[in-house]
Amino acid sequence: MKEYRNYQLKGNNTFGIPALCDRFIEYAGGEELKSLYEQGIFNGQWMSVGCGANLLFCGDYHGVIIHSVASGIKVLEENDNNLLVRADAGIILDDFIEHAVSNGWGGMENLSAIPCSVGAAPVQNVGAYGVEAKDVVECVHVFDTSNGLTRTFSNVECTFGYRNSSFKSNPQYVVLSVDFRLTKAGSHQLHLDYGNLRSSLPADITSGKEGALREIRGAVRRIRREKLPDPAEIGSAGSFFKNPVVDRAVVDNLLKDYPQMPFYEMKNGCKVPAGWLIEQAGWKGRKMGTVGVYEKQALVLVNLGGATGFDVWNLAQSIVASIRDKFGLEISPEVIKVP
Ligand SMILES: Cc1cc2nc3c(=O)[nH]c(=O)nc-3n(C[C@H](O)[C@H](O)[C@H](O)COP(=O)(O)OP(=O)(O)OC[C@H]3O[C@@H](n4cnc5c(N)ncnc54)[C@H](O)[C@@H]3O)c2cc1C
Repeated sequence: MKEYRNYQLKGNNTFGIPALCDRFIEYAGGEELKSLYEQGIFNGQWMSVGCGANLLFCGDYHGVIIHSVASGIKVLEENDNNLLVRADAGIILDDFIEHAVSNGWGGMENLSAIPCSVGAAPVQNVGAYGVEAKDVVECVHVFDTSNGLTRTFSNVECTFGYRNSSFKSNPQYVVLSVDFRLTKAGSHQLHLDYGNLRSSLPADITSGKEGALREIRGAVRRIRREKLPDPAEIGSAGSFFKNPVVDRAVVDNLLKDYPQMPFYEMKNGCKVPAGWLIEQAGWKGRKMGTVGVYEKQALVLVNLGGATGFDVWNLAQSIVASIRDKFGLEISPEVIKVP
């Protein structure tokens, strides 16, 4: 376990926003969390941080940040069709996917290149190109900071939703490791019908084709590079806003003024792409001092250099107000504002 005082978080959030935290503790697993529990760390202000790819620091954090550096990968069981693999929370999700694809294990290739730790993947139920964490998570092992005990959540108990899970509303659980159910050659199920993925792949791609997982991973990485800023070059947290879900009657009303408005019918209403709304309101590519709206994707707010969390937050608030004025819709941040 390593501990740093007055730790600078600029390198621990993909916005690249400077902020200090009182204590930053790197831990390697449940035993070390148990000792932090016994020291009473969890009685005060604290939070888990993975890659900081969904966080916006608006000021210093006066508390303890815990960060997993656990990095084990273990095959727990295997048959001819699939296998169960345990990955520790501190692993970079994309490194784990590279490991899976290299071993011919399928199921996560569409999630390639999402900046994320394994620990945060079930918390956020990360998703891309038609696959979400919920599709491959068998169970999640957590440390319960309210009683110092470990516990396992089955997939159903995680109550996964759109970028949501039971962990999001219960931050007392610290994810220690995740068991993923992955497929072996002959049993892969490819998901190619999302966005322009299929057209970016060779026409002869099938689940039985040698190297199919590698080709999909390559295509996803290429498409993402074209559309999204690389956090190493331009600070962002990916999509800043969630897509609003509204009643069909609201959509029908809006279609009278905006007949070209895209929407997707869901069980609980209609999802309207927030990126489309923001673009229609004229924000795409706009710059406001140190911050701006990414020119290739209106959902992404970027740090143009030297931004504070409040610079980003103020831009976000201006966008929310303009969508309310223009469409009468409320969009809300996917990004978590800290503190
Ligand atoms: C360029 C870019 C592209 C992106 N593209 C996508 C995308 O395609 N799809 C998508 O879903 N997301 C995307 N995101 C958002 C981001 O990658 C996800 O939200 C991701 O899950 C964040 O992981 P993290 O490790 O950085 O978590 P953090 O941002 O550090 O934390 C997120 C939340 O998880 C909690 N948490 C972190 N670790 C643990 C743990 N071990 N135990 C319990 N709670 C924990 C935190 O307390 C916080 O509430 C993108 C972000 C960027 C910057």
